[in-house]
Amino acid sequence: MTRKILLQFPKEKVNQPLVYDLVKKYDLIINIFRAKIDPDDNGFAVVDLSGTGKNIEDGINYAKSLGIIVNEKMTGLNWDSERCVSCGTCLPHCPTDALYVENPKTMKINFDDEKCIECLSCIDHCPFGACSSIFKE
Ligand code: SF4
Ligand code: SF4
Repeated sequence: MTRKILLQFPKEKVNQPLVYDLVKKYDLIINIFRAKIDPDDNGFAVVDLSGTGKNIEDGINYAKSLGIIVNEKMTGLNWDSERCVSCGTCLPHCPTDALYVENPKTMKINFDDEKCIECLSCIDHCPFGACSSIFKE
């Protein structure tokens, strides 16, 4: 199975070799979508963890035990449904259809964070500022 998570590294934890440990100790496959690591600031990484359910759970608990915050409800990309006017401008720039037409009759747009690969292309192409990211100031 695979789970997408947002890791938040407090400033004093950014030097932790977490990815190495997750691979070696928990036999997990890590797909890093995007990471922002700065020795003088808090760090972020959006990753897919693939492996057995138990190993993923144990790996997440291990990360938490190191003081790393594991967030499964939030991704690096924030889509603001209140700001989105469903203009569709972002659609051709989203490579994974994470932004998609939910209702072909109304052409209402929705966002599927499971499909988002954090390319951040939508941020540059949304005229209404509906997309933002912790990875882009
Ligand atoms: S960050 Fe990339 S993949 Fe995610 S919604 Fe925006 S364009 Fe799509
Ligand atoms: S470009 Fe922005 S406002 Fe237009 S559909 Fe995409 S997210 Fe919504």
